[in-house]
Formats: sequence, C-alpha cells, structure tokens
Amino acid sequence: MKNYDIIFLGGGQAGVFGAFEAIEKDKNLKVLVIDKGRMLTQRVCPKEKLGKCVKCPTCAIIFGVSGAGAFSDSKFNMDYRVGGDVHVITGKSVVNETIKYVADVYKRFGFDEKPSGVEYNQPMLDIKKRCIEHDVQLVDTPTMHLGTDGSRELYTKLVNYLLESGVEFASEREAEELIVENGEIKGVVVSHKGTMETYHGENVVIGMGRSGAKKVMDLCQKYGVVYKTGAVDVGVRVEIPDIVMKDINENFYEAKMIYYTKKYKDRMRTFCSNPSGFIAAEKHGDDVILANGHAYKDKKSTNTNLALLCTKTFTEPFNQPFEYATAIAKMSSMLTGGKILMQSYGDLKAGRRSTEARLARLNIVPTTEDYVAGDISLACPKRILDNIIEFIEIHDKITPGFASSDLLLYFPEIKFRSTRIEIDENMETNIKGLYAAGDSSGYGSGLNIAAVMGILAVRHIVTK
Ligand SMILES: Cc1cc2nc3c(=O)[nH]c(=O)nc-3n(C[C@H](O)[C@H](O)[C@H](O)COP(=O)(O)OP(=O)(O)OC[C@H]3O[C@@H](n4cnc5c(N)ncnc54)[C@H](O)[C@@H]3O)c2cc1C
Repeated sequence: MKNYDIIFLGGGQAGVFGAFEAIEKDKNLKVLVIDKGRMLTQRVCPKEKLGKCVKCPTCAIIFGVSGAGAFSDSKFNMDYRVGGDVHVITGKSVVNETIKYVADVYKRFGFDEKPSGVEYNQPMLDIKKRCIEHDVQLVDTPTMHLGTDGSRELYTKLVNYLLESGVEFASEREAEELIVENGEIKGVVVSHKGTMETYHGENVVIGMGRSGAKKVMDLCQKYGVVYKTGAVDVGVRVEIPDIVMKDINENFYEAKMIYYTKKYKDRMRTFCSNPSGFIAAEKHGDDVILANGHAYKDKKSTNTNLALLCTKTFTEPFNQPFEYATAIAKMSSMLTGGKILMQSYGDLKAGRRSTEARLARLNIVPTTEDYVAGDISLACPKRILDNIIEFIEIHDKITPGFASSDLLLYFPEIKFRSTRIEIDENMETNIKGLYAAGDSSGYGSGLNIAAVMGILAVRHIVTK
C-alpha cells in the first residue's frame, strides 16, 4: 500500500498547478494525481472523427488529466474579481499575487501574451458609457487568451514536466471513498475497472471540478465535511454573427457584464465569450447534455458565442440546487433525445418552436450539429427565461443587433457549483489534511482561481 505526501483527487487545473507547486517547493515530495478520465494524450473525442457525439461513458472533453481547461478556450483572467470568489476568505492581494505567479508559470511553459482589456480606447469608453446608462456593471479585467489549441500545448508541456519530476498519475480512477480517522484524512479509495484501490496520505486536495461536483457533495455528506448549499447558475449559451459583437471582440476580446433584472432583481451575467468560436456539447451522464463554447487560436468561425447565466440561490427549506439544475437539464434532454435544445430569439419572441426550415432563413449558421431545434420555454423555468429575455434586451442597448432574430439560444448552460465547502485561508476543510480547491469547492468558476486554490493548499501543506 503506497503512502503519498500529497494526493490530488482530480487532475484538472487545481490538481496540475497544485502538483507543480509541490515539486517547486520540494522535489522529494511523493505526489499522486488521481483522475477519473484519461491522461491528456489519450483524451480523444470520437466526435473529431465521426462528427457527432457518441456519448462515451466518461466524456474525454470534460474528464481527464488537465481537466476542463484542456479543451477550453483558456481565457486567463488576471484579476480576483473574475473566476470565483475565494478572496472573501483569503483577501484580494493574495489572490492577485498568486494569479501573477500562475501567469509566470504559463510563460515558463511557452505561453506569453500581452493581456487584452488593459488600456481603454474610444470604442471601449463608448461601451462602458452604455453599460453605465443601462445599469450594467462592466467587470473590466485584463485577460490572456490561449485558445483551445494553445491550451492543449501548454498542458502537454506542463504534464510532461510533472511526469519527469516524479509526480505519479493514476488515471481512469474514480474517487469513491475518503479514509477519515478521528477528524483527520488518512487516504482515499478509488475504483478502477471494477476493483477498489486504496491510496494512503495525510494530505488530500479535492479538485474534482464541475464534473465531479455531485460526487464531492456526496463525500461531504458521508464524511462530515462542513459545507453550505451554494448557488447554481442556469442559462443559455447564445451565438450571434461576429459582426454584431465586433466592437467588444476587437477591443475587450471578452466584456464581462453583470446585470440585476428589474423584474425579479436576479443576478444575470455574461460568461465565457468566444469570438469566432464554436458551440460545444458537454456531457455529464446519459441525460445531462449541456451547452458550452470555445474558440481556437487559429481555426475560426464567423460567430461569437457567450453564456447568459442566471445565478440562483435558494432559501430554506430547499437545499438541493444541484438536483434542481439537473432536473432542468434532464427535461431539456427529454425533449431532444440527448442533444442541446436550440431556438432562435425570433422564434422565442414569436412564441413558436424553431425548426430547421425557420433557421435556414436566418443570417447565421450554427457552429454545431449537436442540437435539436425546438422551444426552450418548454424546459426553462419561467423566472429564468424572463431574466434571460430581459438581459438580452439590455445587451442590445450596449451591442445593437444583439436582440435580433439571428441570436441563437442553446439550452441549457449550467454551472454546477452548488456545494460551498467551509475552508480556511489555506483551503483546509474541517477534516485535518483535507483541502478543497477549484470549481468543486464552490469558490471557483475559472482557471485562474482553480490554480490559485491548488497552489495555496500546497503552500500550506509544505509548511506543516
Ligand atoms: C468548454 C469550457 C470552456 C471554458 N472556458 C474557460 C475559459 O476560457 N476561462 C476560464 O477561466 N475558465 C474556463 N472554463 C472553466 C474552467 O475550465 C474551470 O473553471 C477549471 O478547469 C476548473 O478547474 P478545476 O481543477 O476545479 O476542475 P477541472 O479542470 O474540471 O478538473 C476536475 C478534474 O476532476 C476529475 N474528476 C471528476 N470527477 C472525478 C471523480 N469522481 N474521481 C476522480 N476524478 C474526478 C475530472 O476528470 C477532471 O480532470 C471553461 C470550461 C469549459 C467546460
């Protein structure tokens, strides 16, 4: 039975950057990264060859070493205000300093790009003014952009470096149990091709991402890890011709906007904008198919996609936001037979379903075939749909043309981070030696904060 100094449950952004930091601090540490998916080089999506999703039991796009980041557009936000809110625990400067440190690691592995969105020109000032006029907060943070292809390159170099430095990877192993004795972590149990394996260690960092969020909640309940019911983000991914988004794309690359709806006072935000990008289907189990999007550095479409998300927190006695969001996704999947549900904004406003014949009359051609044209109002709760429509109309005042019939709405886009684990400034939970980092902790929603949390956990472990 092997004993490790640090075990990472989940080899995504938090896991690989945590492992990097461990080796930086002490080359002799015995570090193990466990992941449900495959090693990065074996993460091949059959869709690339077959042209359609064949519903693999473990989706190579979201599961596997390097995590969701490996296939993401990898916009790296250089500010604590975007990508999560761990700063409420650590303070802002720690997060910003660690983000800078991560950007230096990116540079070390060959990625060095001048961040966009730093100096304002006239079109940017005009956009900001229109945001102010319409009660929209523009969160203007510097952003670096790797692109889906650049991101694969970076992770390949980083994972190779970790392997050369002696970090062990146990891929295709799914976290099943924690070993907790007298309030202290002693190891983990994982399943691998029908058998159970035990790994011992007194420091375990859980970073299982959104894909592992439900499992993390189950583990918290079973082993008494203190957590709160968090929020859930439900909305749509929209796609619109680049020409409409030109000013934003060319000057900000991505303009992050937050808006509180007049009707319900709910928080809406734009998220993960991909100029000249592509819509992607994200599979979380057989009947949970979510919309997402990405962009390559070199391969380009003529459409921009971005998410419009509604953040919902629930009050007592309801405490199952994860199940709530899953039920929404299942309802949508029921209507489509396991694809994303898509409707044009023109059809939504006209109260009719979209059909291929109606879509063919638009100026826009969808960048995916993983959808079924239909009526999203049959699957999306009214309050959320009202919020989406209000946000689209407000966005139109900032970006004229946005609320046109050519806007395609792909449903649902959901961010599962409903468990908010109670952690201290070192990312340690109430179980001694058990740390939580990244999206599955409930404090992260982006690459920057996941890396920061993995690194901060390791910095504490090595001081012990
Ligand atoms: C299509 C797409 C585009 C995105 N674009 C951006 C972007 O441009 N900028 C940005 O900042 N963020 C982006 N994100 C979000 C970003 O990828 C995540 O916030 C980030 O990867 C979170 O890191 P993490 O380590 O917490 O989780 P992840 O990177 O998701 O890693 C979690 C790991 O845990 C593993 N795992 C899950 N369950 C188990 C289990 N039971 N047992 C063992 N292992 C398990 C998974 O296989 C995975 O490797 C995007 C996400 C997607 C899906």
